[in-house]
Amino acid sequence: MTALAKIVHTTPEIEAEPDLTDGFHLVIDALKLNGIETIYGVPGIPITDLGRMAQAEGMRVISFRHEQHAGNAAAIAGFLTQKPGICLTVSAPGFLNGLTALANATTNCFPMILISGSSEREIVDLQQGDYEEMDQLAIAKPLCKAAFRVLHAADIGIGVARAIRAACSGRPGGVYLDLPAKLFAQVMDAEAGQKSLVKVIDPAPAQRPAPEAIARALDVLKSAKRPLIVLGKGAAYAQADEAIRALVETSGIPYVPMSMAKGLLPDTHPLSAGAARSTALKDSDVVLLIGARLNWLLSHGKGKSWGEPGSTKFIQIDIEPREMDSNVEIVAPVVGDIASCVQALLDGMGKGWQQPPSDWTETLKAKREANIAKMAPKLMSNASPMTFHAALGALRTIVKERPDAILVNEGANTLDLARGIIDMYQPRKRLDVGTWGIMGIGMGFAVAAAVETGKPVLCVEGDSAFGFSGMEVETICRYGLPICIVVFNNNGIYRGTDTDPTGRDPATTVFVPDSRYDRMMEAFGGVGYHVTTPDELTRAVNEAMNSGRPALVNAVIDPAAGSESGNIGSLNPQSGIKKKK
Ligand code: ADP
Ligand code: MG
Repeated sequence: MTALAKIVHTTPEIEAEPDLTDGFHLVIDALKLNGIETIYGVPGIPITDLGRMAQAEGMRVISFRHEQHAGNAAAIAGFLTQKPGICLTVSAPGFLNGLTALANATTNCFPMILISGSSEREIVDLQQGDYEEMDQLAIAKPLCKAAFRVLHAADIGIGVARAIRAACSGRPGGVYLDLPAKLFAQVMDAEAGQKSLVKVIDPAPAQRPAPEAIARALDVLKSAKRPLIVLGKGAAYAQADEAIRALVETSGIPYVPMSMAKGLLPDTHPLSAGAARSTALKDSDVVLLIGARLNWLLSHGKGKSWGEPGSTKFIQIDIEPREMDSNVEIVAPVVGDIASCVQALLDGMGKGWQQPPSDWTETLKAKREANIAKMAPKLMSNASPMTFHAALGALRTIVKERPDAILVNEGANTLDLARGIIDMYQPRKRLDVGTWGIMGIGMGFAVAAAVETGKPVLCVEGDSAFGFSGMEVETICRYGLPICIVVFNNNGIYRGTDTDPTGRDPATTVFVPDSRYDRMMEAFGGVGYHVTTPDELTRAVNEAMNSGRPALVNAVIDPAAGSESGNIGSLNPQSGIKKKK
């Protein structure tokens, strides 16, 4: 029988159209099935309708002005929730803009999925010049933890499942999911489509440490005369807050928090050695690292910041086995998830645990008190224009009074000084530039912090740092988010006082003097403040945070107050050529 004959034969009985679904809906259904409720992105070809449909299907879709900030939002959503944050971008240029955030998420161990539309394989692979042609999968691969492409609607469920598992399991990180334009329009039977979806069971399974590893770690810890715990952002991510607090308090070992681990225990905790960090690192004999890497932020575990070579023994808890011995020898590697490892150490300490010698804890306490006392007068200066210290002294009090607010912080001096001066009181309340020390995370992090937690957000931004994502104040106003941005305006990068020696142009590190960033906020209907003293700053921020409305405080800082590159000026290479006299 010919095909035509068959059609003629069957037409009399009018068949009900089978229920159909398509690529768009399968992507949305796959995300929702896995408890993902929010997408951060920028619309455009070929994913405009995906955003529309996701919104129509009840997902929260937050549209940004630039993909990098949508990507940063997704990354920090992942850090805050342990679910992969989703960033949705258009092909080629939009994808590349999002890729910086994906690479940063991977570097910081934040779970995130960058979903990007892409052009058609047939044309891309023959390099025939498609609209926004680019081999995105190949480009993403070396910059993230895993990268996948889906070509058939029936594989969307598996593709999304693979992406979620890759992002969340083991050491979390960024995953790229490439969805060519044609995929979205592909239709298939709705029931078969539903069946093709996968709900990922236990995406980040517990990884329990070996008992021998725990015993070894406890032996080393027991032998210590001057032990120290270093808490990193992995410890904050793990959400094992109670167990970590119990470990610190039961062991009686002083601890130093890395910047995004601040608040895991309140910075005012008696065992916090944060304000005695240099002494703590230098003089400790055994260091227990919990979710912190011995990278540049810890001087690679050697050199000037530490004692004589070989005098410090390291125990390291990390989910990634290859992290061990990456910079110096780890005498007691404890591989596993932080919740399980910390609990196992606690169980192993038992009742007979001996707290560390009191001369060590007293030494650190005295050092800490001395450092705090030395800092105190600087925080109270009422000079105008303000110093960094005085402005941060005001914000420090505000954060103390509003411990559940989330602090986003970037800049050079604004970052380094805020990290030391502003105490944190609750876990995962401090979000900052992370492992790369990247500028531009500010508004993306702030938006996601507000969206994911519903808490007020205080963004403390250097004027340069703010510039990277400043246009997103429109996004903040559009969604009416409770974000108060304080721009530390010192007319430039590090300082606002440099000049071009030839007298021709502005120096490379200065901005338009006396800019009014507050008016950017006003342009979109938010509230702007212009302040020149700590008292005015306090009043403005309190008013803004009480209102719950978008606000920007332009805080005038002395242009001469900052130092080069904040406290990492030593990383600047110096020319070996001596100037001729
Ligand atoms: P910091 O910069 O605060 O020192 P890092 O980002 O350098 O923190 O280190 C975080 C570490 O935490 C990474 O090595 C990562 O593998 C680890 N990590 C993240 N999540 C977990 C977890 N749930 N269990 C164990 N280790 C984890
Ligand atoms: Mg500046």
